[in-house]
Amino acid sequence: MRQLHVFFLPLMAHGHMIPALDMAKLFSSRGLKTTIISTPSFSDPIRKAQDSGFEVGLITIRFPHQESGLPHHIVSLDQVTSDAKLLPKFFKALSLIQDPVEKLIQDLNPDCLVSDMFLPWTADSAVKFGIPRLVFHGTSYFSLCVSEEMRRHKPFKNVDSDSEPFIVPNLPHQVKLVKTQVSDYNLQEKKDDFTMWINQMKDSDARSYGVVVNSFHELEPDYADHYRKVLGRKAWSLGPLSLCSNADEVRGEREQCLAWMDSKKANSVVYMCFGSMAKFTPAQLTEIANGLDESGQDFIWVVRKGKEDENEEWMPPRFEERIQGRGMIIRGWAPQLAILDHPALGAFVTHCGWNSTLEGVCAGVPMVTWPLFAEQFFNEKLVTEVLRIGVSVGNKKWQRGANEGVGGDAVAKAVRLVMVGEYAEEMRRRAANYKRMAKEAVEEGGSSYNDLTALIQDLSTYVPFNK
Ligand code: UDP
Repeated sequence: MRQLHVFFLPLMAHGHMIPALDMAKLFSSRGLKTTIISTPSFSDPIRKAQDSGFEVGLITIRFPHQESGLPHHIVSLDQVTSDAKLLPKFFKALSLIQDPVEKLIQDLNPDCLVSDMFLPWTADSAVKFGIPRLVFHGTSYFSLCVSEEMRRHKPFKNVDSDSEPFIVPNLPHQVKLVKTQVSDYNLQEKKDDFTMWINQMKDSDARSYGVVVNSFHELEPDYADHYRKVLGRKAWSLGPLSLCSNADEVRGEREQCLAWMDSKKANSVVYMCFGSMAKFTPAQLTEIANGLDESGQDFIWVVRKGKEDENEEWMPPRFEERIQGRGMIIRGWAPQLAILDHPALGAFVTHCGWNSTLEGVCAGVPMVTWPLFAEQFFNEKLVTEVLRIGVSVGNKKWQRGANEGVGGDAVAKAVRLVMVGEYAEEMRRRAANYKRMAKEAVEEGGSSYNDLTALIQDLSTYVPFNK
């Protein structure tokens, strides 16, 4: 069989770039030629992967700051999601890379384009060059299904207030939400740039060849089936992609943190991290600090402030002194995979970004769910109600800016619930089971391994309809 060449076009945002790189590594480990098209600011991790022996190609293209009117320090979507002025410019920049990308397709003639959902024009480029486009949303089947059923049936139209629950129809389980947990673009209430871009993305999904999903069949079988059979999408489960990553690859400052974990007992440390984008108000940080202290558990907390230059006035008096030996604060980028992989890890407090959620599944520990924005409230439902390996901290308010509203007592209570007691043990057993299934899924003969075999087969017999 001739070697297939796959182009990867990730979105410029950490939560999208990380799994896309892992996917490229996976494809190359299965004998495919891979090339990632990236802007200079995101090429470092790709070079590092190359240095550690992965055969992934890299082509850097310029990010069109000037033509889009974006200031030079803006390089990723993370930096503009809550900025109404910069967001449309960012989207403009994303559409301006269509020409250079098409030129590359023309010159290098790849067999397939795996592109991020935030690049809807790639569906047209693929058609133009007679190659299949695979969409990568970077989320769960569960959230893809919830979001699509909401789009089709608009169940939130039947409630009179923001706090009255509605049921998302048609799904394998009863999924109950309130409007405050749902994004404005899911509610379609505003016609802002984000909503318009999301609508374009949905339309372009339908024009694409299929969808690649960072999940594994055993985790959410009902939803993988629903997505394919009821919603009619062609989809391949390839995950967990983080298992293709090497936990030794440095993602953050590791040594100090892991040495500290080495000194702790098995299952005794709570790890709290809210991904790459989440921000909190100083008042919320104070509540978290008090809650972690009150929980009586050892912890590692990755602190992200609302503004990087903000002072540390949120810190309760003598906090660092009080938590000495019990708690560790990380202010930069944490080596998340290595922390999750450590035997001392006991539980994970997560914002339910899909990468983190799935990494938590692979870690096999119970989770405290604290969704903030994007599709995180949907992932929370999967973790707490379908998989039943986590408890919610109780946040009900979707907000893209600096988050607040959860009391320290709620934090302490949720943390204790996942660390001690009968329910914690029950969740721990279930979580350990999913960890085992995750590992098996990517091994030779496992479900994700086989799905990739099937995808490669499909791509090698693809006949474009316009050729
Ligand atoms: N991550 C990390 N260290 C940090 C914060 C995040 O390694 O301090 C990684 C994490 O392991 C995950 C990704 O960044 O792979 C975050 O993706 P996710 O979908 O969880 O959240 P997002 O950042 O997109 O909100």
